Amino acid sequence: MLKGKTALVTGGSRGIGAAIAQAMAAEGADVIVVYAGDAQAAERVCQTCREAYGVRAQAYRCDVSDFAAVKELAAQVKADWGGIQILVNNAGITRDGLVMRMKEEDFDRVMDTNLKGAFNMIRHFSPMLMRQEESRIINISSISGVIGNAGQANYAASKAGLIGLTKTVARELASRHVTCNAIAPGFIETDMTRAMPVDAQTLAAAVPLGRMGKPEEVAQAAVFLANAAYVTGEVLCVSGGIGM
Ligand code: NDP
Repeated sequence: MLKGKTALVTGGSRGIGAAIAQAMAAEGADVIVVYAGDAQAAERVCQTCREAYGVRAQAYRCDVSDFAAVKELAAQVKADWGGIQILVNNAGITRDGLVMRMKEEDFDRVMDTNLKGAFNMIRHFSPMLMRQEESRIINISSISGVIGNAGQANYAASKAGLIGLTKTVARELASRHVTCNAIAPGFIETDMTRAMPVDAQTLAAAVPLGRMGKPEEVAQAAVFLANAAYVTGEVLCVSGGIGM
């Protein structure tokens, strides 16, 4: 149970982030949804959390790649909520292409959102997390960051970097009772995979379990890590076996 906790989920307006926000709410946590552009989608997630689970839920717009904007977000969240106990760094983007043809701006944008975004959030929210009795940081990496993926040099590098960030933060904050773990999802049914140039059947064929995963299946792993007091610095693959 996560009653009495507040969980902040970046990219909580859609896909995996929305499923994580709702799964945390189902466990009794109050929820803060951070989104980039789609205010209506973010508000819909908050409304579901409030109506279905009776928890507090509020959406905030913030570009996680913007250091100054994340600093302002942390100050606003502190003023509105007092503090948080669970931080889920889920916001992420793809700009796929073969490395030989990849544009510099596509490399930078993916690194700035996926890796620097998580750094920005941890940098500005860790003082709040450290002040609690126990806190959790959960970073959504990817199986691409574990085994690589042709066409995703920028994305795989950002997600591998997130694993290094996870293990380092786990070591730095362990004495303050803050755990930090990563989840590495495989192919999950969201807008991100729907935008890929490969159809769902082809993606599923590459998975030992023979199908794509559902956002709710990743969310259950996040709930496990939100409850797990004696797990830190780990990477939990939720990939139907791609990562083994
Ligand atoms: P979606 O594209 O469905 O959703 C992305 C979310 O991130 C949206 O809520 C979006 O907000 C938000 N977002 C994007 N850029 C920013 C930004 N700069 N600042 C704040 N929020 C931002 O993605 P998924 O649900 O598929 O993916 C979620 C995470 O899981 C990502 O980190 C992704 O890399 C990872 N992942 C996904 C896999 C998959 O198969 N789907 C596999 C492995 C990992 P808005 O709606 O406002 O644009």
